[in-house]
Amino acid sequence: MSEEHDYDLVIVGAGPAGSSAAFAAAKNGMRVALLEKENSIAETVRTSGVTWIQSIKEFGIPDDCYNPIKNFSFCSPNNEVTISDSVPRAAVLDVRKTYRWLAREAEKSGADVFVKTNINATVRDDKGDIRGVSSTGPKGKTTFYSKVVIDATGFASTVCKAMGFAIQWKRFGAGAEYEVKVENVDPDTWWLMVGKQYSPAGYAWIFPLGNNIVRIGVGVGKPESNIDPTQRLKEMMDKRIGPIKKLGKMTPMEFHYGLIPNDGLSRKTVFNNMILVGDSAGQANPLVLEGIRYAIKYGRVAGEVSANAIKSGNTDEKALYPYEATWRKEIESKINSAGKVQDRWIGLSDSDWDKELDIIKELKPEEFIDFIKAEFGLTNMIKLATHHPKLAVRQLFNLVKGK
Ligand SMILES: Cc1cc2nc3c(=O)[nH]c(=O)nc-3n(C[C@H](O)[C@H](O)[C@H](O)COP(=O)(O)OP(=O)(O)OC[C@H]3O[C@@H](n4cnc5c(N)ncnc54)[C@H](O)[C@@H]3O)c2cc1C
Repeated sequence: MSEEHDYDLVIVGAGPAGSSAAFAAAKNGMRVALLEKENSIAETVRTSGVTWIQSIKEFGIPDDCYNPIKNFSFCSPNNEVTISDSVPRAAVLDVRKTYRWLAREAEKSGADVFVKTNINATVRDDKGDIRGVSSTGPKGKTTFYSKVVIDATGFASTVCKAMGFAIQWKRFGAGAEYEVKVENVDPDTWWLMVGKQYSPAGYAWIFPLGNNIVRIGVGVGKPESNIDPTQRLKEMMDKRIGPIKKLGKMTPMEFHYGLIPNDGLSRKTVFNNMILVGDSAGQANPLVLEGIRYAIKYGRVAGEVSANAIKSGNTDEKALYPYEATWRKEIESKINSAGKVQDRWIGLSDSDWDKELDIIKELKPEEFIDFIKAEFGLTNMIKLATHHPKLAVRQLFNLVKGK
């Protein structure tokens, strides 16, 4: 048995990037199919869901989708610092609720959402360019033809790999996390934990969601370390190291595991009739490996640019290039600068981390937020690199500037 569909735009993967692309294209009058392999949107959670309230407001994400965060605590083996802000600027998302809201917005704008649709092949025209995708399951083959295909499959990058445009990421982060009900937690404060006992190449975290629920997790850089994050997380929770011991009785509710690319912006993201967005394009801030806000933002840009190209009757690489031009202009230099800080952080010993926290302690809340978000505005960087009273802070920002 086989089934065929014909759309203007087909988007593979209904994570934040795919749903946002579907929303923007459907709003621009396109006939859109959004294809997801799982049984429901966000059935499996693969992220810790930290993002920024400014982005949440910009995207129109409802207030009941997140827990606001005002205080940022760090600990290394022998140091601890808390940066307290006057208002909450960070947030921990209810990932399932948020991702389902994004997909629902796409549906409300007219996109057709297909779940249980695992795409495993591409359809090419006589020039070899993509013209659709197909899934083969127990009920036979389903083919979706389209003028443009967006690969929003995340780390897997299924469509661009099937086209031969990309190979497996070489450098990536692997993260494991438990969502846990705990006895004691300050819902306004997140914890980042650094040093070898947490992660030899990465960091661990406690992110509060409200209602005495937290996400406790650990991320490990590959290939820098061969530690299994799941094993390390269990050890950390069993031994209750660092701030974990303050949480009191812990009842794990759900386990999350995920992979995130960390190869920088190494991929080309537009081809004839095809765009890569979100993790499939490597669009993540490498400092803390956060990619949700870029996935939503550039998902929308990808949807809009695809719609314009389809309306013009030309969907070749050049017609789709405004998408790549937009994200490169907005985030390329920030991601490259953040990559330099990440390289410095990956090499730090435990005692170096103790000292690094002393540098972080010197930052004002707004400076810290810009830093961790990789919002390295040039004026701000020059100011910090030239005029900050502490030499170590000046050195850190000189590194960001590329000196
Ligand atoms: C452990 C961990 C913690 C993280 N924490 C944060 C954080 O706190 N904040 C932050 O901003 N970012 C975080 N990230 C990164 C963030 O999760 C990603 O950048 C973001 O999810 C990228 O969105 P996406 O839509 O591109 O991909 P995904 O969210 O991965 O979505 C891809 C979708 O495509 C579907 N799919 C895949 N293959 C196919 C196929 N063949 N056919 C059909 N559907 C398919 C998948 O099921 C999935 O629904 C974290 C990542 C990890 C691994």
